[in-house]
Amino acid sequence: MNFLEERILKDGIVKEGNVLKVDSFLNHQMDINLFKQMGEEFKKRFADKNINKIMTIEASGIGIACVVASYFDVPVVFAKKSQSINIDGDVYVAEVESFTHKNKNQVIVSKRFLGPEDHVLIIDDFLANGCALQGLISIVAQAGGTVEGIGIAVEKGFQSGGRMIRNLGYQLESLAIVESMDAATGNVKFRDQSEVE
Ligand code: 5GP
Repeated sequence: MNFLEERILKDGIVKEGNVLKVDSFLNHQMDINLFKQMGEEFKKRFADKNINKIMTIEASGIGIACVVASYFDVPVVFAKKSQSINIDGDVYVAEVESFTHKNKNQVIVSKRFLGPEDHVLIIDDFLANGCALQGLISIVAQAGGTVEGIGIAVEKGFQSGGRMIRNLGYQLESLAIVESMDAATGNVKFRDQSEVE
């Protein structure tokens, strides 16, 4: 079992509705030493990639992305949730349905911060159905950039996002893949990472 899986067993809470609560160390209170371990691990897993930018989505991906970016020595751009209409055409736009809030948001990235020269590593805290990732991938495509890989802290392997993203051919690295979880007992089971290609 790796460091993140151990921490999930220790401090994660399984909620009804397929939600894993990890707000004591990942996305509300944040354990920066844990984030550093994640940064080191992603640096290893994407060692052969030439990455010049990290991208994530507001809000809970930002903290992890910043620490990971320090291991790659590159800037972070995060997709912002926006209500305003893109009148000037100066932003890339994607529509993202929130898994946790069940609402749809437009997310935007300024054209000043992403372009064809960018080789992007996408980072996020969770992967569920893959809507957030699809939005980010679409924004990189609009910019003419390249997605070099995707690094996720917690993938919920029983939801469809992971399979969909791997089928599209992306190198998706999830540090913990939850195979099943039970709100009644609090049990969490992880996928054996050796099974992941
Ligand atoms: P997706 O777009 O893949 O369906 O969901 C990913 C987003 O939803 C993540 O950015 C994360 O913020 C949120 N999310 C999805 N599942 C969970 C979960 O079980 N727990 C928490 N805390 N956030 C989740």
